[in-house]
Amino acid sequence: MATSDFAETDFEGAPSRLAIDPQAVARNYKRLAALTKAECGAAVKADAYGLGMAEIAPHLAKVGCRTFCVALVSEGLALRRLLPDATIYILNGVFDPPAAREAGLIPFISSLDALDAWPDDLPFVLNIDTGMNRLGVALPDALQVTRRPVMIASHFACADTPHHPLNALQESAFRAARSAFKDVPASFANSAALLTRPQSHYDLVRPGIALYGGTASPDLAPLEVAVRLEARIVQVREVETGDSVGYGAAERVRRASRIAIASLGYADGYLRAAGGTNETNGAPVFVNGHITRLVGRVSMDLVALDVTDIAAKRGDYVEFIGRNVPLETVAQKDGTIGYELLTDLSRRAVRRYGPL
Ligand SMILES: *Cc1c(COP(=O)(O)O)cnc(C)c1O
Repeated sequence: MATSDFAETDFEGAPSRLAIDPQAVARNYKRLAALTKAECGAAVKADAYGLGMAEIAPHLAKVGCRTFCVALVSEGLALRRLLPDATIYILNGVFDPPAAREAGLIPFISSLDALDAWPDDLPFVLNIDTGMNRLGVALPDALQVTRRPVMIASHFACADTPHHPLNALQESAFRAARSAFKDVPASFANSAALLTRPQSHYDLVRPGIALYGGTASPDLAPLEVAVRLEARIVQVREVETGDSVGYGAAERVRRASRIAIASLGYADGYLRAAGGTNETNGAPVFVNGHITRLVGRVSMDLVALDVTDIAAKRGDYVEFIGRNVPLETVAQKDGTIGYELLTDLSRRAVRRYGPL
């Protein structure tokens, strides 16, 4: 079939496209689950870190995941429709008990007020702040709680920095909480703690980013890559030494260059911070077997890249995130983390679920 037979909303031939491999996520789950004696759950909040909860959660269930964490009741309701039998925790808590009750969603209760507002006959997780000072009942208050939670939980502030002193302080506070709730199951570990702190696994681990192939800690290899973001070259142009490329004339080329303009921009969720200037290199990209880099600013719908030394023509695909361009490398260039890049991916890049 000729390319012209495809609408631009088809993955084949799409100007920008995002391949997502739910089986790779499921394989990552199995690898993580094998690292612990605890039950392994999955954080699928924010639409499975932007990758599509509806497409991914059933694959996790198929490989044995029974427990899922989302942030919001709306996310829990959507997940319940997909997985009638799963245990679903609502990390941000619940403002409307009837909605949660109906769907069997279990809140993380993070304040005594929230506990008072939660019906006596419904299960809840007591989320205890052990030093992050984000969500969670303060430890002295937690020790006053007389209702029995189905689980106690806490969350690390610095698990991605294994030697940070706060980790041990939080673990010690959680041990104190544990002794007040004997025989109540406990959950503490995110991806980084699952990979580096076996003493914190307890009864349920809650990995998110590692499932999706993100790096949970700078010291750790990521698991299998599960996404690839690509876009097509729309035009290739010759640029003279010293000429600038793009908005703001932010970068001048230092040699006579061939510049490819590709159909991707910050409206696709590819951050503007990835651009290059005279002082800083643009983010790496992968074109026809070669790594090169962005030149000048990222616009809403377009980016420029240096293909002076690469055979590249109109219609070729460029990889912006994937096996050849690690998520974390782009995130570092952008001054952010892989989590933010994934959740920023927009719905403009056409999606396909299947092997990369
Ligand atoms: C997001 C989240 C997780 C998962 O964290 P990762 O670093 O992605 O593994 C676990 N627990 C809580 C409370 C979270 O908010």
